[in-house]
Amino acid sequence: MRSSILIIYTGGTIGMKTDAETGTLVPFDFSAIYEEFPSLKRLQVDIEVHTLSPVIDSSNVCPANWATLAELIRDRYDRYDGFVVLHGTDTMSYTASALSFLFENLAKPVVFTGSQIPIGVLRTDGRENLITAIEIAGARDAGGRPRVPEVSLYFQNRLFRANRTTKRSAEELSAFRSFNYPPLADVGVNIAYNEAAIRRPARYDEPLRIATTLSDDLCIVKLFPGLSERMLRSMLAAPGLRGVVLETYGAGNAPTSAWFLGALREAIERGVVVLNITQCKGGCVAMELYETGLRLQRIGVVSGRDMTTEAAVTKMMYLLGAERSAEAVKKRLEIPLRGEFTR
Ligand code: ASP
Repeated sequence: MRSSILIIYTGGTIGMKTDAETGTLVPFDFSAIYEEFPSLKRLQVDIEVHTLSPVIDSSNVCPANWATLAELIRDRYDRYDGFVVLHGTDTMSYTASALSFLFENLAKPVVFTGSQIPIGVLRTDGRENLITAIEIAGARDAGGRPRVPEVSLYFQNRLFRANRTTKRSAEELSAFRSFNYPPLADVGVNIAYNEAAIRRPARYDEPLRIATTLSDDLCIVKLFPGLSERMLRSMLAAPGLRGVVLETYGAGNAPTSAWFLGALREAIERGVVVLNITQCKGGCVAMELYETGLRLQRIGVVSGRDMTTEAAVTKMMYLLGAERSAEAVKKRLEIPLRGEFTR
């Protein structure tokens, strides 16, 4: 059975090629994809391409772009079996995490990919990333259902749950990692799907619903030895602040000094939601483990468990946009909505 796939090109390195005459990088025309990669015709997929206007370097991405992307997919959801989103690598994990929260009842693959080397450069990693992402977006199981009906990110031989990923190298072709969740598929000669790790919807026939309101009333506070009361208080005093992603040490630990806990407590009492995630790439927040974490728990800091910064920020943006009260935001932060943390 053939699958129909929509490729959405948003910008980034993958969409560049070297101009034969001048040697400079010029945009790659994805609408001529079959001429560029005739071998794609051998896959059991029909491909259409949508290029966003204007295309952007992903450093310029903002929440309004995520809402646009969610609407674009919602409006075309019934026409295609899967979607491949080509995105700059710099903020790909943020966009892909945000989309995972914005979609409700998603039952089709949305596979993000990009490349470290432009697709039109001889040694590109983009060609393999693109072709395999298309294959995964179109893959079905024996019953004809999509194999990976969630928002995922494919890069350099591995398919990840998108909201578990982080860009970890500006140099290596293997630029992304999912430190706290196993790959959804490993790609070698064959694509080996990790069936147990893939998230499946309760029903496949529900209409896709999307949220488009994301709040930017939040900030990240990253702890470091030497963070002063003056700096912390000025961040917490930002007008309109409703949420803080607190990047703590190790298993969720922070200083026990009275001024530090006092400043956080005052913010929480004002209705600011504080979410604790660890600065470590791997591992989980466990505030009950040390006195330095327990104090945070006692003043009402919420545990972000093993969430990435990208997932924590975008989940908070989504919940602050959806809920009015701090209590409602807190309650939903504690539940894994799209498999973004380990229970
Ligand atoms: N600056 C580019 C971007 O994120 C880098 C890339 O695509 O790899 O849009």
